Amino acid sequence: MRVLVVEDDANLNRQLKEALGEAGYAVDVAFDGEEGHFLGDTEPYDAIVLDIGLPQMDGISVLEEWRRAGKTVPVLLLTARDRWSDKVQGIDAGADDYVAKPFHMEEVLARLRALVRRAAGHASNEIVAGPVRLDVRSGKVTVDGQAVKLTSHELRLLSYLMHHKGKVISRTELTEHLYDQDFDRDSNTIEVFVGRLRKKLPDECIQTVRGLGYQIADD
Ligand code: CA
Repeated sequence: MRVLVVEDDANLNRQLKEALGEAGYAVDVAFDGEEGHFLGDTEPYDAIVLDIGLPQMDGISVLEEWRRAGKTVPVLLLTARDRWSDKVQGIDAGADDYVAKPFHMEEVLARLRALVRRAAGHASNEIVAGPVRLDVRSGKVTVDGQAVKLTSHELRLLSYLMHHKGKVISRTELTEHLYDQDFDRDSNTIEVFVGRLRKKLPDECIQTVRGLGYQIADD
């Protein structure tokens, strides 16, 4: 899952990038409204963390522009504490949720998980595909109840496919959603990770759809 953080406070921006990176997201960052708007407009994010008070262009305007352009990406707003009018304005502008500053990082992570999960159509924190279960909170994967150890890259890949189970996902889509914009993208790496992941999962779990991509069957 790839997320964008738009926050002008350099310290907070770094903290968010680190925490989200540790939680397994590929993270791009922007420090002002214009840059953030541009990235959100042109890159395919799975969720966006957007501060309201930003230089160049404020967060509400950025959000309104995205929604006007038909972008449905889940947006978590960062609002100032006690500014209830910001929250109302933000929700009206198309925000999916908000967290008031100062916040606990755990709350941002939990709200983001829920947004990503719901956007993909899952009601609970456990996504099941046949014998494979993924707990999106802990990142734990089990096959027939037995824990499977995955590297962070393998987990990212499996998580994306599980969130979108039943759909064929192209290698390009995987590359765009698993790596941040600075990553040296080579679609062959995806094949390598799929190969490694397959060895740890039941046969037939990840199917190759010739010429189109990969799919985890919806059960
Ligand atoms: Ca700010």
